[in-house]
Amino acid sequence: MEENIFESMMVESSLFLDKSRLHHTYVPEQLPHRDKEISTIAHNLVEALHGQIPSNMILYGVTGAGKTAVTSFVLTHLQEKGDNIDAKVGTYVINCRNIDTNYRVLALLGNELIDDENEKIPFTGWPTDRVFDVLMRRMEDEGGVHVVVLDEIDYLIKKSGDDLLYNLTSLNGMLRNARLSVIGITNDLTFTEYLDARVKSRLGQEDLIFSPYTASQLQDILNQRVDALVPGSVSDGVVNLCAAMAAREHGDARRALDLLRASAEEAHRVGEEKITPHHVRLANNRLERDQMTLVIGDLPLHQKLVLFAIYAHHRRGVKRITTGEVYQVYKQACRHSNSLPLTARRITDLISTLDMLGMITAQTVSRGRYGRSKEIVLCIPSSIDIEQIMAEAEPMMQNVVNATYSIQSTLI
Ligand code: ADP
Ligand code: MG
Repeated sequence: MEENIFESMMVESSLFLDKSRLHHTYVPEQLPHRDKEISTIAHNLVEALHGQIPSNMILYGVTGAGKTAVTSFVLTHLQEKGDNIDAKVGTYVINCRNIDTNYRVLALLGNELIDDENEKIPFTGWPTDRVFDVLMRRMEDEGGVHVVVLDEIDYLIKKSGDDLLYNLTSLNGMLRNARLSVIGITNDLTFTEYLDARVKSRLGQEDLIFSPYTASQLQDILNQRVDALVPGSVSDGVVNLCAAMAAREHGDARRALDLLRASAEEAHRVGEEKITPHHVRLANNRLERDQMTLVIGDLPLHQKLVLFAIYAHHRRGVKRITTGEVYQVYKQACRHSNSLPLTARRITDLISTLDMLGMITAQTVSRGRYGRSKEIVLCIPSSIDIEQIMAEAEPMMQNVVNATYSIQSTLI
């Protein structure tokens, strides 16, 4: 038999000493440049150690600004201190991107408070009121102060409304023996618009905004983790380049860490022991491609149809496309996906969203006596197979990409 294909890969040493230190779930012992945020949250939560109710909070900030890391850092310290001094403190972190219904959040909290398997609340099936009552009773039995963190809370609100928040933030009025405080975390600055005014004022007793990291702050964050790589494999220049590229996006620490990790993988792939700026650029392209692929696949159907209509022109060699042209092909694509076309006005909104996502640029241009119009240019790199991604993500799109279209381009 031939040599096992893993044989050579296993003896090859990688550039990683401890890859998990570059993973985004890893919380380091120190979080540079977040002292102010840590102390603001801690000053509020210290009330729990005194048996008082901390204010509810909302933490805002772009992705990778350290919201999740800072919160779990503070909660770990809180729990540790609480255990040390025998103050009854319970801490819970729920990611609402995964747990996105009111029932599941309540059931999860209720089950955290009980050890006996037979007493656990089932995954589904009970009326939500009953789950809420059980949770309340268990909190009363347990006593103490409970701090509940709802991370990426906008997912929960958009899917299931704000009833849960209303109930949770009313709970202190009903509890005798226990106290509850809620911390919501979101990337969406406009998120409170989805909340009822009462919920908004109760939850947002204290707001905290995490600003994006600067390039030099990202350098410090990366330098703290370079010991995850073989000594000598990474230079200051490479760290600075990763930091600069991530800062250009929006000061995202996750992006900076991913970039360093992917750069090490690129260097290793070609058998080099030192990471170079070339590897960083290759890694950046790969991350951008992966990210774009995910975003295209996740677009809602009509957004996909609009993107497809733009792509269909691009493929024919029409590189600057008007809104009217997009709309004509979009309507044909709707027929092939058995869906009713949205109005031209809505399509203009969908085009703006694609612009915001960086998939196209849409510039308003003046066309003399024909008035003003948008000129749309596709920016998705040609290495990304838009049709394939769409067809794989949504079976309906298979028909759309296979159909033929009549494209009438107005010459500019
Ligand atoms: P957010 O929740 O705001 O999207 P995260 O807290 O998940 O961001 O941070 C993204 C990644 O960057 C995580 O791996 C986290 O450990 C790391 N990180 C963020 N801020 C810092 C910091 N100040 N110091 C060290 N690592 C950080
Ligand atoms: Mg987060």
